[in-house]
Amino acid sequence: MCGIVGYIGHREAYPIVLKGLQRLEYRGYDSAGIALFDGSDLKMSKTKGKVADLKARLESEISTDGTVGLGHTRWATHGEPNDVNSHPHYSNSGELVIIHNGIIENYDALKKELKKRGYTFKSDTDTEVLVNLIEDVIKKENVKLGKAVQIALNQTVGAYAIAVFNKSKPDEIVVARLGSPLAIGVGEDEFFVASDASPFIEFTNNAIYLEDGEMAVVRRHKDVRVRKIKDDSLVDPYVQELQLNLEQIEKGGYEHFMLKEIHEQPNAISDTYRGRMLADKGIIRMAGVDDNMERIANAKRIIIVACGTSWHAGLVAEYIFEDIARIPVEVEYASEFRYRNPIISENDVVIAISQSGETADTMAAIKLAKEKGAFAFGVCNVVGSSISRETNAGAYTHAGPEIGVASTKAFTTQITVLTLIALKLGKFKGTISQSDFQFHLQEMERIPEKVKEALKSDNLIQEIAYKYRYAPNCLYLGRGYNFPVALEGALKLKEISYIHAEGYPAAEMKHGPIALIDEQMPVVVIATKKGHYEKVVSNIQEIKSRKGKIIAVVTKGDEEVRELADYVIEVPETIEALTPLLTTIPLQLLSYHIAVMLGKNVDQPRNLAKSVTVE
Ligand code: GLU
Repeated sequence: MCGIVGYIGHREAYPIVLKGLQRLEYRGYDSAGIALFDGSDLKMSKTKGKVADLKARLESEISTDGTVGLGHTRWATHGEPNDVNSHPHYSNSGELVIIHNGIIENYDALKKELKKRGYTFKSDTDTEVLVNLIEDVIKKENVKLGKAVQIALNQTVGAYAIAVFNKSKPDEIVVARLGSPLAIGVGEDEFFVASDASPFIEFTNNAIYLEDGEMAVVRRHKDVRVRKIKDDSLVDPYVQELQLNLEQIEKGGYEHFMLKEIHEQPNAISDTYRGRMLADKGIIRMAGVDDNMERIANAKRIIIVACGTSWHAGLVAEYIFEDIARIPVEVEYASEFRYRNPIISENDVVIAISQSGETADTMAAIKLAKEKGAFAFGVCNVVGSSISRETNAGAYTHAGPEIGVASTKAFTTQITVLTLIALKLGKFKGTISQSDFQFHLQEMERIPEKVKEALKSDNLIQEIAYKYRYAPNCLYLGRGYNFPVALEGALKLKEISYIHAEGYPAAEMKHGPIALIDEQMPVVVIATKKGHYEKVVSNIQEIKSRKGKIIAVVTKGDEEVRELADYVIEVPETIEALTPLLTTIPLQLLSYHIAVMLGKNVDQPRNLAKSVTVE
């Protein structure tokens, strides 16, 4: 799940590649490297650590001139993060250089074969095997780089987005993808290649997104030739006009992307329903649902497949779909679903949720469901992403780029989209009354303002964060719609502050976790007025009796819980189905402030990466 970037054209490649790596760092950040071609020689610098470490090292190590460059920011799969395993990788002759995102699964067998033929390897990576395999094909078959890449890839099993450069053919870069994203930016007499469009957005709005199984030869002063890797057939490339702008991918005065994205939620939520929901007219329009209404509304079952935070959004959706549309829902971890021989029928609808739209396990789950005849519906943020293309229909979240590794606005916008779908289905099926439907729409329209109000608790939350920042453990409890929010709150804390946290349905506490409670243990309880309020209040009593520290998220004006809790954080009142959109806000801020106070790298937590394109 690394980030790759390349440039060939008339400008200095180094600043473009370096900036591109900084923008792609969300994808992986355990090591980084750049190779530059100055017209006669290839130079390379790479290091364990962040792009900033690379910059410091590279500029004293090599000259930065050259109009061709390749860069990589790594999330190690094969071989520990160290200087040698960092990309780019040279072939044995030093003629070829490669950057790679993905996994070559049969690398070991290929490596043994190449070793027999005299090749040696410096790194433990699968990637170095691939570049030598390509070199071997060039030598054996006497073919050009493009053909050699194609022949070599047809011998591999696994996933990749690669860019390869041959210094004796310096006017082209060869790229290919299977399972990992790859975009080609088409400029005036210059080309960019990258894992997403962010590295070249200020240079061109025109991009070609390679499809799985495609490769391209990008030629200076010429054009882009796209082919199918399998059968060599030529593909007419579709040049897409990008909607992205520079401001969206910069921090805009915030200290971290995560904080910016937390504060973007009022707009992100309204961007998600804008144009779809006409509250005053009582209409929801969503082409992906409208065009397939019978199929979706008559589903015997909806299976939601997702990973991580998206899986939590799926759990919230389970409550909403069953409650409002009366369709049975199962929520599955995509990684389990794909390997457990699930029973899927043609009457099932599978909803895949993925911010990036590239999550490898979720993608595989959809393919499996489609093979078995189910209808696949995607809820993704990144337009044109693999999952959005693979599914039969879908709805984008329109949250704008999410760069902080810990997902925030993706979660709330996923819930927004899923709520709209449930409401549409409920209306179509007659399982929600017209007045209730109307009321939900009106209330949804008020959510952005209410999120803004929830964000105002920031000072109080900082105080709470300061108080509990050294807690070794933390428990999050919620019931009903807010049980998944408890899971999400715990995940946020774990991800960025490395504090062990668990989310539980509040009533389940007495079946185990209650044993953990003592006077050291902060327990975050979501206790909003709607739903099972009285029951949650009883659970709070149980915690208090055992001297646990209670941080309660309550409906504005609540006095009962205030009497019991050590801290209360208020959120505005709303209908029960929409409370997750509000209760999640203080939990995001709490984890953010604790992580900052502990000096953690909020946007790039250790061991994680944003877009999980490997299994
Ligand atoms: N498998 C390659 C490695 O471990 C690439 C991993 C990635 O996608 O970052 O170096």
